Amino acid sequence: MTVIEFNGITKNFSLLAVTPPCYTVLRERFVNCMMNSTVKKDIRKLSLDEIKEFLVKGGEQGFRAKQVYEWLWKKSAISFEQMSNLSVALRNFLSENFSINAIQIDQKQESADGTVKSAFRLFDNNIIEGVLIPADDRMTACVSSQVGCSLTCKFCATGYMERKRNLDPAEIYDQVVHIRNQAAGNFNQPLTNIVFMGMGEPLLNYANVLKSIEYITSPDGLNMASKRITVSTAGIAKMIKKLGDDEVKFNLALSLHAANDEKRNQIMPINETNTLEALIEALKYFYMKTGTRLTYEYILFYNFNDSLEDARELYEFSRHVPSKINIIEYNPISEADFINTKENTLVKFRNFLEDKGVVVNVRRSRGKDIDAACGQLAIKK
Ligand code: SF4
Repeated sequence: MTVIEFNGITKNFSLLAVTPPCYTVLRERFVNCMMNSTVKKDIRKLSLDEIKEFLVKGGEQGFRAKQVYEWLWKKSAISFEQMSNLSVALRNFLSENFSINAIQIDQKQESADGTVKSAFRLFDNNIIEGVLIPADDRMTACVSSQVGCSLTCKFCATGYMERKRNLDPAEIYDQVVHIRNQAAGNFNQPLTNIVFMGMGEPLLNYANVLKSIEYITSPDGLNMASKRITVSTAGIAKMIKKLGDDEVKFNLALSLHAANDEKRNQIMPINETNTLEALIEALKYFYMKTGTRLTYEYILFYNFNDSLEDARELYEFSRHVPSKINIIEYNPISEADFINTKENTLVKFRNFLEDKGVVVNVRRSRGKDIDAACGQLAIKK
């Protein structure tokens, strides 16, 4: 007998044997079923046309739909009461039929360097993370795309969590709004950049990630520039090609961390099925379709991928498509033994690449005094 619980409601599954994968599938179906039957639909799952259709059927004028839509995506309303240019009757009508499942800040950590990490609570009580990373010339939001992650990268705290579900577009949008408010509140600065480098693999939640970017960049939404958005992937070759086919306008980063298959397989199991050769082919295709220069992210782990031979392999890899390389300082996690390379090794590594004409940025670790590594705060919860 397997008992599954969601929001205080339990169901018994009298299967003789429920193996862990079966359990996961059963729970996901049960939660979806409960969400559909006991919880009002989130109005943000409706398109403008669908809101209009609903209002007209309810005897309202069609143009009200545009007002509701603006409140949701431009003014980031989290309740119907806020929609002050709608009549009280209409606001009541909406709240009787829909919810707005806005995410909430569950916990916030502020680093001495200004970095703000938030654990966000979702409507079904799952926890995800988002980070504000302030710098002299930019305010960057790092957002999550899934609850947990299925890719089990060995250096990443999120990789040690179960993937529970994809985030919907509004849950991604909400992270940006919260972090934008933190940039304004703490620094009196607008949010300038967004990176999809938080929990989850964005290309395994493809449709919702692209939809969220539509809400973030649309003039009817937050009106931010696509070129200020970077989606970072562990490397799903098929979906990188799809980004090319969809001719996306945002930037793409590949979390590379090793430029030979043997080493990459050790730290990123996804590489076993999406080899470097497959990735090169997909990246060439992406570049051909979009003309957008790639970014390769490379964490220098002590005594693992920090030799000059590693630098040479990275250089060879980078030559296939116009690109730049971000060398990222590592935030160690308790689940793994990796540590950061030494400063003089980093300098030699960077110099080797720069001498070959490669554009290299070194991204220093931020929020060292808080749980800033991806998944670190959520895993505690
Ligand atoms: S690094 Fe990214 S893809 Fe890999 S486990 Fe962590 S969240 Fe998932």
